[in-house]
Amino acid sequence: MTALHTTLKPQVPDTIEHSDRWREQARCASDRYDPEQWFPVGDNLLAQQQAEEAVAVCRACPVRTACLDWAMTSREDTGVWGGLTKKERAAIRRRKQRTPVPVPATRTVQQLARDAYDTYTVDVGGGHREWRGGPIRIDGVMHSPKQATWVAVRGARPTGALITQCGRRGCVTPDHQHQTRSTNGRKAA
Ligand code: SF4
Ligand SMILES: [Zn+2]
Repeated sequence: MTALHTTLKPQVPDTIEHSDRWREQARCASDRYDPEQWFPVGDNLLAQQQAEEAVAVCRACPVRTACLDWAMTSREDTGVWGGLTKKERAAIRRRKQRTPVPVPATRTVQQLARDAYDTYTVDVGGGHREWRGGPIRIDGVMHSPKQATWVAVRGARPTGALITQCGRRGCVTPDHQHQTRSTNGRKAA
């Protein structure tokens, strides 16, 4: 059998997809190992020993997680991948099928905006905060940093233009923001 692991050898085509880059660091692609090692045939003692040795190499492989993800996603049902034998991977698949996928608690738009605020803003001194990373999609809707800040504090989108009272361009400290009526520039009620 031509071992699938020979595809891990570093003669990777230039067109390789970014998500496949992990293969370039595959430990099993090293000339030190025989790729056949990763494909024990049958269930006899020799095959088990062969699998154990392959698993031991996987344990120190820098791309083990990516390799296992790949094998699980592509339902690879032969050979050792990511340090797991085909039986171990099949067991994980069965467990996953039995375990109902937990439904994530719905986070409100305000909670999502708060998370974004905490993640993307930095203290720039003098009581000012700046938003790093540009506009952000929250619950499917694009928000400018100022709009996202408004939603984080008030739970609703602004109805007018937002201006920065402190005069520092790009500041998103909530107390330094206020809303104007977009039509005539007067303060919103
Ligand atoms: S985890 Fe194992 S099978 Fe996967 S690339 Fe590394 S050595 Fe090869
Ligand atoms: Zn400010």
